[in-house]
Amino acid sequence: MSEMQHLREQLVSISQQLCHLGLNRGTSGNVSVRVHHEADLAGFLITPSGMPANKMTPADMVWMDFLGNATGEHQPSSEWRFHLDILQQKPHINAVIHTHSLFATTLSTLRRDIPAFHYMIALAGGDSIRCAPYALFGSQQLSDYALGALQDRKACLLANHGMIAVGETLENALNITQEVETLSAQYLQALQVGQPYILTAQEMQEVQEKFKGYGAWK
Ligand SMILES: [Zn+2]
Repeated sequence: MSEMQHLREQLVSISQQLCHLGLNRGTSGNVSVRVHHEADLAGFLITPSGMPANKMTPADMVWMDFLGNATGEHQPSSEWRFHLDILQQKPHINAVIHTHSLFATTLSTLRRDIPAFHYMIALAGGDSIRCAPYALFGSQQLSDYALGALQDRKACLLANHGMIAVGETLENALNITQEVETLSAQYLQALQVGQPYILTAQEMQEVQEKFKGYGAWK
């Protein structure tokens, strides 16, 4: 099986897992993955616009190049701009997941970063998970804000919208998506009672050092 066909099947599988895990509903959310080894092709596959995951087939996935040209039976996701920009500007990243998952999206409406209230924040690459400023969905402005919030990070919230998680592989991006949703739920719960204690920069540095010993968290 070609890499292209394998990745088409993986995109469908991950999109359906996002629904089964309760991280996406209906036609919201979208997923993309870089294609490496096709001769003369530089680009990525992305889920189609307006199609629920349980209806998707591998052939429905849309091919895009880094100029924004799409090839396929369907239109690419309306959020293709930030998928393209992330994959183009972060060469070590190969997969992008965007969801409107319940808790991350709820937190995004407060337009605040998630601080280091739990050590697993380090999974996203730093001492916080930033919230990108609000911009219209599908706009270049939203993509620019997302890139800023994703600097040295593997996840961010999008104000009044949802979240983005990125990874070296689709499975890695899915793990981060799940973790960000869990952290969002925990942070929202804690805020209902008071102000959670925040780990210090030194404590978070120790976590980052320890994570380096676990291949799964890279
Ligand atoms: Zn969205």
